[in-house]
Parts: sequence; structure tokens; C-alpha cells
Amino acid sequence: MRLAICPLALLLLAIPATADDAAKRAALVAGYPDLFVFDGNDVVFPDGTRIVWDDGKARGAEELIASPDVEDMFHYVYPLAAAGALTPDRDFDPGRIRNENFFKAIYGASAGAVDDHVVSVPWLGGSARVTTLLDIDQRLAAVAAGMTGELVDYGRNPGGGFNWRVIAGTSQLSVHSFGAAFDINVDFSDYWRWAGVDADPIPFKNRIPLAVVALFEAEGFIWGGRWYHYDTMHFEYRPELIAYAKAMAD
Ligand SMILES: [Zn+2]
Repeated sequence: MRLAICPLALLLLAIPATADDAAKRAALVAGYPDLFVFDGNDVVFPDGTRIVWDDGKARGAEELIASPDVEDMFHYVYPLAAAGALTPDRDFDPGRIRNENFFKAIYGASAGAVDDHVVSVPWLGGSARVTTLLDIDQRLAAVAAGMTGELVDYGRNPGGGFNWRVIAGTSQLSVHSFGAAFDINVDFSDYWRWAGVDADPIPFKNRIPLAVVALFEAEGFIWGGRWYHYDTMHFEYRPELIAYAKAMAD
């Protein structure tokens, strides 16, 4: 039998991106403006670094964490603070999926390269060390200015910012390595690994008010308390995920 291919089908085949793919690309550009361009299926940086956007592989939960492409970072839609208190579903980890090469290209590929941009920011009577890239220092200062009244206690005794290190139990760099994450008061922190390695499902715990989360989100930071593998003192600068969450809510 002879297959007839209509012109419309050819046209559809020629369009590389679905509407959802276009929304993800737009969110990445909105989050990191003027730092890279898309060239077909590649994200290309001014120094010539090319990173594949979408390699087409379908990944399970563990592979998404271990070896994601850039597009995979949008696999789960981050729930904004406005969605209220939530207990994350199994493996729902919006923001824990990170393409390390992308962040190295944005912030620096070594401790020294990142440190060249790191400054101290006043934080509730103390200080925090984060990068000046993408104005993250000014954004954290804006969060600090909002930590008033009953919220102050959640900011005291912070866990800290810039620290070139891998995530506990993995070989992957923490976003603290890039000076783009900040941990608030460790005394109010809950962390999934503290539930014990045999916990199944992992019981969700949180003592951080959503008013604190909303302050951080307004400056482009997501909260580790939205993850099944939760880390409730942890905030990291992921404006692309907030932009995508808002686009999906529209
Ligand atoms: Zn952290």
C-alpha cells in the first residue's frame, strides 16, 4: 500500500517544538536573560559552550536526578507558596533535577571561578555569602528586608550560602557550590534523610511558614520544602522554575 503524506503532516513534522517545549524554553530564557541562546536543540553560551537541551530520553525518577538534560529540569511543575501547604507525592522533587553543566556555565565551573563573584550580604545581624551574578546578592538582601516580625526567628542561625560541595550521599554538586542557594535557620530545619534510610514512604515534616517561602519566591528562589526528598531550610535561585510554574497556572 502506498502511503500518502499530506502537506499538513509534513508541516507538523517540520515544527521541532511542542507548545509545552516552547513554554519551557521561554521560561529558561526568562530566568537567565542574555546569558545564552538556543541554537536548534542546543543551549549555546558566549564562550562556545554547547549543552543539549532535550536528548529525547525518557528517564525514571532516579535517572532524572542523576543525569538529566536541561529540559528535564522542568519535569515537575514547582508548586508556588500560593498553592498552600502540601505533602509532596512520592518522588515529586521539583528543583532537585539539575543539569550540572548548565549551572557551571552560568555560575562558574570551579570553586575559584564561582568565588570570584561571591560577596557577603547582610543577613539579620549576620552575613550570607552568595554570588553577585543575576543580582542574587541583591535578591537575598531583599528577602532579608522582608524577614520582620514573627518571621525573624526563621532566619536567625542560618545554615549558610556559598559552599563548594556535593550533595550528601551523591556525587552531584549542591547549588550551594554556585553561590546560588541559601539555608535559613537550622533549628527549624527538617530533612528527608533524618527520617531514616528505611522510611517508606518518607514522612513529610515542615516547620517553615509559607510566608517565608513567599518572600524567597518573590525574588526567584524555590523552596526545598516542596520536595518528596525535602530539605526545608533550603532555598535556591531557580527563576526558570518559577516562570514555568506561573506560565502553567495561566
Ligand atoms: Zn541548602
